[in-house]
Amino acid sequence: MFVEDYKRLRDLMVETQLIPRGIKDERVLIAMRKVPRHLFMPESIRYSAYEDMALPIGEGQTISQPYMVAVMTELLELKGDEKVLEVGTGSGYQAAILAELAREVYTIERIASLAEKAEACLKDIGYENVYVIASDGTIGLPDKAPFDRIIITAATPVLPEPLIGQLKEGGIIVAPVGERFSQILVRGKKEEGVIVEEYHTPCVFVPLIGEYGWKG
Ligand code: SAH
Repeated sequence: MFVEDYKRLRDLMVETQLIPRGIKDERVLIAMRKVPRHLFMPESIRYSAYEDMALPIGEGQTISQPYMVAVMTELLELKGDEKVLEVGTGSGYQAAILAELAREVYTIERIASLAEKAEACLKDIGYENVYVIASDGTIGLPDKAPFDRIIITAATPVLPEPLIGQLKEGGIIVAPVGERFSQILVRGKKEEGVIVEEYHTPCVFVPLIGEYGWKG
């Protein structure tokens, strides 16, 4: 396929998967029309990049469904000047979307080979405001904290305590919280030091494995 074909598929993805399901934030829609999702995938499945599903990226991990990326991003209410922490880099696609919409993105991946691939891909495309770190993201990044926004893109039994500590007052955290094989998308806002939760769509993510997530 040619670059223009991918662009057409990407526009179609926005028109058929995102707008009809209620994604309204114009900046999110623009980013989803722009970021070349197919480049974050193994070549053998690029032709499926703009389909309405999560897809395998190796190491038993997945790149999230476009709609889920859009919903989570919209819930973050990014205006452009935020410092964002993502836990679960995976392919790096969500990080690229965040990089379009925020000032600075720190993204942590526990599987070193995925972190390397994502970093290379983000660099090739030209993102200069994303930092990929290979480590256990449940601990966060104390030396870069506090963050205006935190997004966890793996399923967690609870919002990890260290991440709550690293969220700014008035900040927003979005994460799939629940059981190992089914979760609810939770948005927490930090108000007077306490996380006030809102519950959104049911979802299924791969597990967050680490000190403050699942044990293995
Ligand atoms: N946001 C990704 C999708 C992530 S899939 C994308 O856009 O492609 C979830 C990722 O979280 C997997 O790559 C998995 O290895 C990673 N992960 C699981 N536990 C983690 C942890 N404790 N710290 C950092 N990454 C973790």
